[in-house]
Amino acid sequence: MAELEIVTIGHPVLETKAAEVTKITKRTVKLVNDMLDTMYAANGVGLAAPQVGVSERIIVLDVGDGPIVLINPVLTTAEGEEIDVEGCLSVPERWVYVKRATQVVVTGLNEKGKGVRIEADGLLARALQHEIDHLDGVLMVTKMIGEATVEVEGEEGE
Ligand code: ZN
Repeated sequence: MAELEIVTIGHPVLETKAAEVTKITKRTVKLVNDMLDTMYAANGVGLAAPQVGVSERIIVLDVGDGPIVLINPVLTTAEGEEIDVEGCLSVPERWVYVKRATQVVVTGLNEKGKGVRIEADGLLARALQHEIDHLDGVLMVTKMIGEATVEVEGEEGE
C-alpha cells in the first residue's frame, strides 16, 4: 500500500470523463488500497481515481462508518435538494456551496467484483454525488452556488 499524489485543479485528468473498469485486476485492487491510504492520509471523506491521475471509474469513501469502495458507480436515484458547504482535496483551501440531492441510491461493484447498492442521505449522499461528478470530469467549482468564507466545523475534503 502506498500514498499517491493528489492532482489539483488545472490538471486535465480532472476535467476528463473517466473510463469504465472492464476488468477488476490485481492492479485495480492495489489502486483501491492506495486510494484509501491516500484519502485517510489527507483526512478526506472521499476520493475518486482521477484525483490520483487515473482516469477510471473508481471511488472510495469513508464518512466515519468504514471504507466504501465503488467501481463503475451509477447514481440510480436522487431525491430532495439541499445547499451545503463542501470541499475537495483537488481544490485546496476552498469551500463552496453546492446544491445536491439529499437522498440517493448508488449501485456499482466492490473490489471483489460483487454488486453493491448503497442508500444514503446526509454527508454520505453528498460525498457520493461529489465523487461521481469527478468521474464525469466535473468539479464542485463548476456547480458551486457561492464561495463559503470559512471551513465548516468538521467538514472534510472529498
Ligand atoms: Zn473532490
